[in-house]
Amino acid sequence: MPDYPRFIVDSMLGHVARWLRLLGYDTLYFRDIEDWKLLKIAEEEDRILLTRDLGLFRRARKRGLRALFIEDPSIERVLALLSARYGIRLEFEKHDTRCPECNAKLRYTTSLVELSGKVSSYIATKYKEFWVCSSCGKVYWQGRHWKSIEKSLEIARYERAKIQSRLKPREKAVSMGNLDESA
Ligand SMILES: [Zn+2]
Repeated sequence: MPDYPRFIVDSMLGHVARWLRLLGYDTLYFRDIEDWKLLKIAEEEDRILLTRDLGLFRRARKRGLRALFIEDPSIERVLALLSARYGIRLEFEKHDTRCPECNAKLRYTTSLVELSGKVSSYIATKYKEFWVCSSCGKVYWQGRHWKSIEKSLEIARYERAKIQSRLKPREKAVSMGNLDESA
């Protein structure tokens, strides 16, 4: 399981936290927290700060913290940017995912015994794979929203490719320059 990168997001980016947790990344999010506390935790726990607040972003950079100012409302483009910049994977790994609600690691299970009483018999017969939160006890399965999650990840991978192709021409120019010099 990748313990890094780890993130902390500001109170406006709860949806980004849920996505990062789903993808397995340790991400802190507080509905209500003062800026100085966010900065303190980011510093002490070596977390990348994601924020929609330009002032907070600048303060973080001034303190030498890793931070990213997020203004794009598209979650797909945000994930693409995080992947291009910090190398996060844009695939769901069933054995490496976290609770979108509380950030604890989820345990994968196919055992219905383990789930008894936690899901309805309809869900228990319809689905074969489940994830149990080790902390808050919530149980997850790939329900009817799963298709839209996979679609978003597909779009995010496409957006990442676009970002990477924009970066490439410069790299090529550098290596061409080197060839010229050695000739
Ligand atoms: Zn949980």
